Amino acid sequence: MMMNRRHFVGGTATAALLVGMPKAFAATYDLVIKGGRVIDPSMGLDATRDIAISGGRIAAIEPSIAADATETIDARGKLVTAGLIDIHTHAGRSKDGPPMCLQDGVTGWVDAGSGGADNIDDVAAIARGAPQIGRCLVNIARTGVIAPGGELHDLNAANVAMAKAAIERNRDVVIGVKARLSDNVAGANDLEALRRAQEVATAFNLPVMIHIGQNYSPLRSLLALLKRGDIITHVYAPGKNGILDDDKILHPEVMAAHRRGVIFDFGNGVSDHFDWDTVEKATKQGLWPDTFSTDWNTKSKTSGVVDLPNVMSKFIMFGMPLNQIIAAATVNAARCFPAFDDRGTLNVGAPADVAIMELREGAFEFLDNYNNKRTARQRLFPFEVVLNGKRVPKA
Ligand SMILES: [Zn+2]
Repeated sequence: MMMNRRHFVGGTATAALLVGMPKAFAATYDLVIKGGRVIDPSMGLDATRDIAISGGRIAAIEPSIAADATETIDARGKLVTAGLIDIHTHAGRSKDGPPMCLQDGVTGWVDAGSGGADNIDDVAAIARGAPQIGRCLVNIARTGVIAPGGELHDLNAANVAMAKAAIERNRDVVIGVKARLSDNVAGANDLEALRRAQEVATAFNLPVMIHIGQNYSPLRSLLALLKRGDIITHVYAPGKNGILDDDKILHPEVMAAHRRGVIFDFGNGVSDHFDWDTVEKATKQGLWPDTFSTDWNTKSKTSGVVDLPNVMSKFIMFGMPLNQIIAAATVNAARCFPAFDDRGTLNVGAPADVAIMELREGAFEFLDNYNNKRTARQRLFPFEVVLNGKRVPKA
């Protein structure tokens, strides 16, 4: 299990006490989600439960809730989890993004570096206006993402003073710093760009997320510059200077970084971010993702990403236990950033953000970033979403 680090330990005594409150306290609820298989790793819960919601918060979780409710969702045969949190998206690029990914069950998102000092104010405005909680990482390059060109080929773009000022202007929504360090984005500037990202982040006590892949510098040199709580996205990127050596063995520095609190994020994306072979070799050696993310944008529906539940399903195929998969998409993601402290859980009192998914049996095709297909017999589909205690209408 990859969830043995202190800040990923779940469960609270308070919640257990509240769940056991006498029925005499029960009132009329706004919404009851009935009969689903509730998986909440934050409470160690995997059982059939009814969930009652009042005033936008989780009011009760019990085997059966008979009290009146204004609205009921029949979740029999479905999975019910805390709302999904996607920590690497580009949902902040357009105001159409947040409501689109909300349909997939994503009730919290992080835009990872779409904007740098020159344009982060636009991303921040979209985060503030989103229906669900949206936050962003400022790109260390002042331009934000330049694709396919790459934003760090000129080191002057990594301007520390400008990035700091961008955070100062947007402290309410900027929760970290992003540095894209693959060869095609940064070339030989990767280490210096990361040093500058850390200089900005540490001034505000924020994490850095790095994107890796076919890096110019050896991975151990990048890892040496990461602190506890920093995040590596695209962790299964194949090719030179990745997590595996020439014999497909994990570099010892990779697991050592994990042990000291560096977080491993999947980061599906569309090009050069993962292949099945690297996922298979690494997971067999015990490297599972702490968090899932899609690298989402408004075109993801028609790429190999599809949606976050589809990305999660890829790891069902590799044998990751379902409760660990749900943890990665909920409580683990929430614990990456203090802004999500009260999310990723169905604890009584928590904001009532809920994802209801269907785990279908059949023959489902999944794609890596090299158009390789694998077929598996289970896939998660979004079914219903509840945000702030209200059912989200289907688009
Ligand atoms: Zn990205």
